[in-house]
This record gives sequence, structure tokens and C-alpha cells, in this order.
Amino acid sequence: MAEAKTQEIPYKVYLSEEEIPTHWQNIRADMKTDHRPLLNPGTGEPLKAEELEPIFCSELVKQELNDEDKFIEIPEEIRNFYKMYRPSPLVRAYNLEKALDTPAKIYYKFEGGNTSGSHKLNSAIAQAYFAKEQGLKGVTTETGAGQWGTALAMACAYLGLDCKVYMVKCSAEQKPYRKSVMETYGAEVVSSPSDTTEVGAKILESDPDNSGSLGTAISEAVEVATKSDGYRYVLGSVLNQVLLHQSIIGQEAKAAMDKIGEYPDIIIGCAGGGSNLGGLMVSYMSDKLNGKANPYFIAVEPASCPTLTRGKFAYDFCDTGMVTPLAKMYTLGSQFIPSADHAGGLRFHGMSPILSQLYHDGYIDEARAVEQTKVFEAAELFARTEGTLPAPESSHAIAVAIDEALKAKEEGEEKTILFNLTGTGYFDMSAYEQYNNGTMKNYVPTDEELQAGFEKIPPVGNEVPEE
Ligand SMILES: *Cc1c(COP(=O)(O)O)cnc(C)c1O
Repeated sequence: MAEAKTQEIPYKVYLSEEEIPTHWQNIRADMKTDHRPLLNPGTGEPLKAEELEPIFCSELVKQELNDEDKFIEIPEEIRNFYKMYRPSPLVRAYNLEKALDTPAKIYYKFEGGNTSGSHKLNSAIAQAYFAKEQGLKGVTTETGAGQWGTALAMACAYLGLDCKVYMVKCSAEQKPYRKSVMETYGAEVVSSPSDTTEVGAKILESDPDNSGSLGTAISEAVEVATKSDGYRYVLGSVLNQVLLHQSIIGQEAKAAMDKIGEYPDIIIGCAGGGSNLGGLMVSYMSDKLNGKANPYFIAVEPASCPTLTRGKFAYDFCDTGMVTPLAKMYTLGSQFIPSADHAGGLRFHGMSPILSQLYHDGYIDEARAVEQTKVFEAAELFARTEGTLPAPESSHAIAVAIDEALKAKEEGEEKTILFNLTGTGYFDMSAYEQYNNGTMKNYVPTDEELQAGFEKIPPVGNEVPEE
């Protein structure tokens, strides 16, 4: 057994409340390639703010379109809410390092220390706040694994807003208590697809056993928001505004790393819609874009929903019902429905346009797809060494952090690794159970299956194929 490393620094680096960032950091202001605008699917023209305002709150539309301001001030009330559960700790994974017998230093930012169990609360409170400011009655949204719905329910309860959540049906069945938590915070939860919307009813008519997808739940939530007075739609990932709000993670991580004189060589985040990695990387990506440093960024995704590793960089709908604007992103096609066998979240067919562009331009160095039994193997090692029961989503990042630490051992290099531990896995015990009793399957779509998804990518915006 390896000797324990001397603990030259504590396990956890905490910032003080005063060190919670006062501004969100907007990486778009540093990006070298023009960010591609959202397109109106009907006309193919870039969307104007007025066209987005029936869907999103006005202030959030401004944030969505802002590619100029490097920093945007965080309103006092949001900062006060952050103080209930932030700053989040930066942890040195000494015990995991010891188990791996690696010379690498592994750090993780732990975002699971609030009831929603994930980083999603950072954006939920911001989006709910701007809805309240605008005098709206409530918001609608979708949720897959349930963390976003829970976070939004918490934020809406705090501010006294109505909250209506469309929850992907197979997730709702896998995690019944998620629904109870959301209801405890006063949210209304509907399994999607449902017959409460036109788009849901249409899907059920052609496929009564449809197990749902994020894309479908988004279509339903958007329909309800646009048809109800005083409601807007909010989204927990993918959008520029969400990455902006999540920049609180990366700024805190950098401040804590600076305190102990560390700079990461490798930065790892799981990637579903891209918000946690987009948030974690922000200060370091700004360094990279401005030529100050060259950390290596890795986005980790499930092999069952391989958006970055096997998807196309194209304009596509963000939802199955094809009602949203078109975004330029890596996509598997809006009709792609990931296998219901996949338990680990991260099932969105598309990817944040910011992350997509950075990956396309080579600033995000690598995307890696991991099969889910490998993800749970990493999750268990992490739980047994570091104590925290990780969310399956977060465990994608853990799996790659472990691989990188083992590679450092092979090559005898003392690499510094930083990853995002985005959440806890208490609601994922049926997935852990499957892993433990050996019934967990690894589903990897075939090229033919992916091709069927690509064929449904609309021609609008994609007239000139991207190299
Ligand atoms: C939602 C979620 C993710 C993935 O979403 P991103 O937008 O890619 O960050 C990862 N981990 C947890 C715990 C989540 O709830």
C-alpha cells in the first residue's frame, strides 16, 4: 500500500462569504470565433430579442445575446441566496490519490451541498429572480434526472413563484421521490410526454409507450409557457445564460486554487448540456483564449448519448417537437432518443453552443465518451475513498479524472487535475443497485441509429456544411 502523502494543505479550501463572486463571468466576450446566432427556424434569420421575449424573461434574453460584457453584476438578492449554500468547497482528493497510488494531484469542486443535490441551483435562483423582477406569475420547465426541477422548485418557493415541471417519464418512474421533493417545494410535476399539451398528445398518439426525453419535455414546457399569461420558460443547461450563471463555480474554483498556489494542468467536466463544464472552466478558458496559459480541457459524455464525440456540428432544434429556435451546436438530431437503459443523466441530444464552438475550434481539447458500467465503477471507488456518494452524471468526470491520474502514474508525471463533482447520487440508487447486482447494460448506439437522427437535422442554417 502506498504511503499517505503529506498533507501540505488541508483537505478542503473554503472561501469566505465575502469572496463569493460579485459578477458572473461571460466567456463569450473572450471567444475568438463569432458565436453563431440562434436562428428562426421558419425564416432562417437570426432571432431578435423581441422574438425570444414570448419564451424567455426579458433580462435573460439580454444575457443570452450578450457577447460583449466580460462581467455582469450579480444582483444582491441572488448573492444572498448563494450565501445559503456557497461558497462551495474545493477538495483535494487525497484518499482517492492514495488508492490509485498516483503522483497526480486531484482536486474537485463540490457542488452537491444543497438540497437539489447539484450545481443547477446556481442558475435556478438567477432565472427565477429575473422572472419575479419582471412581475411574472410563474415559470415552466423540463427536468430529466430531476436535479434541475428540484433546484427550480426551491428557487421558486423562495421567491413565491409558480413552478410547473415536465419530468421525463422514464426518469419519473426511476426516481419517484424526486417528484415528492419538488412537490414539497410547491412545484407541480407532470410526467412527459403527457396529454396536457398538444405536442405531448401528438407524440402519445403515434407512440403511446414513449418513455420521454428531454427534447419532448422541453417542447411541452415551452408550449405551456407561451400559451399561459404571465409565464415564461426556463432551461437548466445548454443556453448561454445558464453557462453565465454557472461561472460562479469556476471563479470560486480559481480563487481557491490561487489561495494554495495551484494551477490545473487538466480540467474535466461531465457534459450533458454543457453548463457545469462551461461554468467550471470559465476563468481558465479565459486564460487560454487570451494566451496566458494552456490547460487541457476534457468534456466527458456517456457512450449512449455521444453528442460531442459522434455528433454533427450543425444548426438544430433544441427539442423533439421542433418548436424552439435553431442553435448551432453538436447534435445527434432532435429526434434522437437515448436508450431508457441509460441511467446516468446527460441524455440531451444537443450541446451548449458555447462549448460546441470551443470544442470545434480546439480550445476544449478533447471529448471522451464513457460506458456506464465504467462510470459506476469509478463512482463506487470514489464513494469508498472520498466518502461522498456521487451523482452518476458527476461520475463521468470522476472516471476520466481516474484515468488521467493513472496515466500520470504510468508516465511518472505530477499532473494537477481539477474536476467538477456536480452532485450527489441519493436518488440514483436503482442505478447503483443495477450496477451492484450486475444487471446494468452498456448501450452504445450503432452508426445506423445515429444516421437516422442526423437525417432529421433541418436544412435551415446548414446549407454550407461545416468542416
Ligand atoms: C444536470 C446535471 C449535469 C449535467 O448538466 P450540464 O449542463 O452538462 O452540467 C451534471 N451533473 C449533475 C449532478 C446534474 O444535475
